[in-house]
Amino acid sequence: MNEARPLPAPDEVTRPFWSACAEHRLCFQQCRACGYRWLPASVVCPRCWAGECDWVPSEGEGTVFSLAVYHRAYHPAFQALLPYVVAVIELAEGPRLVSNLVGVQPQDVSVGMAVRLEFLDLDDRALPLFRPRTRGG
Ligand SMILES: [Zn+2]
Repeated sequence: MNEARPLPAPDEVTRPFWSACAEHRLCFQQCRACGYRWLPASVVCPRCWAGECDWVPSEGEGTVFSLAVYHRAYHPAFQALLPYVVAVIELAEGPRLVSNLVGVQPQDVSVGMAVRLEFLDLDDRALPLFRPRTRGG
């Protein structure tokens, strides 16, 4: 029997992010005062501490900034996925987020690899995942 994958529990701060994901849009925050862009969601700009920001949609292009290959499942739902890649993705717009890479063997993943956003639908939510970008794709 497969245990269900744990899902994010949106709170007041992260709800706009997850609501956009549910509509297959990946959004990041952008500071109205200094223009800095970031993820994950926070109540103030991590650079200038201003409290006013906008949610901006990403085009979904990025590169692998760093990665780890998991050979051990820390939740039963991930047992069948082993080994799998947890990566920090740097979006073309600048913000970075932790995600999974799909459609590639862990040994073929490298820092700097071009990736493209896709969504995994789970119940009423969707998780942003990344797949290596192929030439022209
Ligand atoms: Zn700022």
